[in-house]
Amino acid sequence: MLITNAELVDGQIVDVRVAGERIDAVAADLDPASGPDSDEEVVDADGTLLLPGAIDAHVHFREPGFSHKETWETGTRSAAAGGVTTVIDMPNTSPPTATGDAFDAKADAASAACIDYGLNGGVTGDWDPDSLFDRPLCALGEVFLADSTGDLGVAPADFEAAVDRAVAEDVIVTVHAEDETLFDESARDGDAGGRGRDANADLWSAYRTADAEAAAVEYATDVGDETGADIHIAHASTPEGIDAAVDGGATCEVCPHHLYLSRDDLDDLGTLGRMNPPLRSEERREAVFKRVADGTVDIVATDHAPHTREEKDADLWDAPSGVPGVETMLPLLLESARQGDLSYERVVDLVAHNPADIFDLSSKGRIEPGYDADLVLVDPDDSREIRGDDTHSKCDWTPFEGRQGVFPELTLVRGEVVYERAPGGAAGRGDDDESFGQVDGENVRR
Ligand SMILES: [Zn+2]
Repeated sequence: MLITNAELVDGQIVDVRVAGERIDAVAADLDPASGPDSDEEVVDADGTLLLPGAIDAHVHFREPGFSHKETWETGTRSAAAGGVTTVIDMPNTSPPTATGDAFDAKADAASAACIDYGLNGGVTGDWDPDSLFDRPLCALGEVFLADSTGDLGVAPADFEAAVDRAVAEDVIVTVHAEDETLFDESARDGDAGGRGRDANADLWSAYRTADAEAAAVEYATDVGDETGADIHIAHASTPEGIDAAVDGGATCEVCPHHLYLSRDDLDDLGTLGRMNPPLRSEERREAVFKRVADGTVDIVATDHAPHTREEKDADLWDAPSGVPGVETMLPLLLESARQGDLSYERVVDLVAHNPADIFDLSSKGRIEPGYDADLVLVDPDDSREIRGDDTHSKCDWTPFEGRQGVFPELTLVRGEVVYERAPGGAAGRGDDDESFGQVDGENVRR
């Protein structure tokens, strides 16, 4: 395939030749006749922006164990429609991905993926590191310093032992950093309101305090310091947490919901806005956005954590935590770039260059010869309203309902079309303007 007249995020206009699974050449005016394949397909990308496929380093695709929430098929289709070509999946499935056998069960489920993926190993009180590290893990984590979905919270001694082992295995450790001893139990005495959207979800934010995040980040980076481990702080939600990660020498991730939503949105969202760590004040949200825009934060990843509407329609203290996001991450960031709030270069650093570097995905994340042909074409002016009904996740709602996003027209995984939408065409499940290709996703540690 020859993609002609594509604009890169640095403003260069180039042609990109894809040969097999790889990018073969990136240059001005490549001649179709000079290709290795004389009848190669030519895609005229004039007027569109060509991006490296996004890497979402934090998803929960729920299989095995919770296929009513999401499957590898639906999760990866949703990712492809949002321009994500690689995901890293977390271990709080059932059984938890904390033994070799459980890893094998996860790998079996993941074989239904239509994009590439990494599979993380998890730490529990009774994990089996010997069999687990015998498998092709992407990273260790997220290691939960407080209970979240799946109740995988570990004690400090177990965390420190796990970090030691990760150092010995030369594997990065992704940490869910909240110190539950600093949660504000008095918040539980507040009036939690009704169910679902009628719940007073602000109490969840009051309960899981900002202090609890910063303290846990400091603890995790101290352990990293003592052991020489590579620590990655997942879903930092406060400026204090981000600054503690940077000061402690860790890499750090921010989720779209902490970039675009705040406690001010909880009146409307109710339990749909319950996630861990929780939404923060508008003032903190702005400070987090600033750190993403100025390069302090390394990556944006989604913590895509689907639950059904029925599950979310519970009272505040019983509702599950988590929101979907894999399909809307890149569109929301591109909308910010369109508005001038982020540079396009920064977007590509956040979702491609940096996650590839941090998680050692050496063939991913760049539009250069020799790299995997994971590519996304977007019309940077084609902004449209985000609607849960249009997304392809099993979870048919989104906390970003009604906001604007810039969605892909074409997504390639290792040179194969995995998602295509007619220029300017509508999207949404079953819409005639879009189609999915049959691509066999592969483990990035294959
Ligand atoms: Zn987490």
